[in-house]
Amino acid sequence: MPARSDHSHGMKLVILGRDGTLNRYRDDHVKSPEELEPLPGALEAVARLNHAGWHTVMATNQPGIGRGLLDMAGLNAVHLRLNQLLAEKGGRLDAAFFCPHAPEENCSCRKPLPGLIEQIGERFGVELAQVHMVGASVKDLQTAQAAGCIPHLLRSERLGTVDEAQLQAAIAQVPGARLHADLAAFAEHVIQLDRRARADARGTALPPDTGPGDLA
Ligand SMILES: [Zn+2]
Repeated sequence: MPARSDHSHGMKLVILGRDGTLNRYRDDHVKSPEELEPLPGALEAVARLNHAGWHTVMATNQPGIGRGLLDMAGLNAVHLRLNQLLAEKGGRLDAAFFCPHAPEENCSCRKPLPGLIEQIGERFGVELAQVHMVGASVKDLQTAQAAGCIPHLLRSERLGTVDEAQLQAAIAQVPGARLHADLAAFAEHVIQLDRRARADARGTALPPDTGPGDLA
C-alpha cells in the first residue's frame, strides 16, 4: 500500500456555495424545506467528493434572515432537509457557514468579503491556498480570490443576464479561475487533479495529460 501523502497536502476540503450550486436559486429566497430544489446531479457530486476523501463545507449568504423573511429555525430546517437529501445520495456537508446579514448591515462575512471563508479556514485548520471554492455567481469568484482560495465558477442559471463576453471577462480578472458546466464537472476536475498530484508525489506514472478534453 502506498504511503499516505495527506501530510504534504493537508486536509482535503472544498467550499461550496448553496443557491445555484447545490439547489435552484430563488429570487425570493429559499424560505422553507419545501422550497429547496436540488439541482440535477449536484448532490451526487458532493457524495462523489466525499467518497474520494473530501470534506465539503457550505458557505452561503442568507440575507433573507436579515430581511426577516425567515428565522434561524427556518434556515436550520432548510439545511436539515438538504443534509437528509444528501444522505440519501451517500453524501454529507461537514458544516454550513452562513452570513445572516442584509447588505445594508455592512458586515464582514457577506460574500464577496472573505470573512465567512476565513472562519472556515480557522475552524478546520486548513491553508486556504489549498482549498477549492466553487460557486454560482461572479461574486463567489471574487470571494475565493479575496480569501486566497482556488476559484471555480459554475455555468449556473444564477448567472442570469451575464452574457458570454462578460463571463469570460470576469474569469480573466481572477487568476487561476476555472469555469465548469456544473457541480459534477467541478467534482470530476478536482478529483482528477488530486489523483495526479498524489501520483506525482509517489513518482508513479499516470497517462499524460491530454489537455482539457480529458476532463470533459
Ligand atoms: Zn454577514
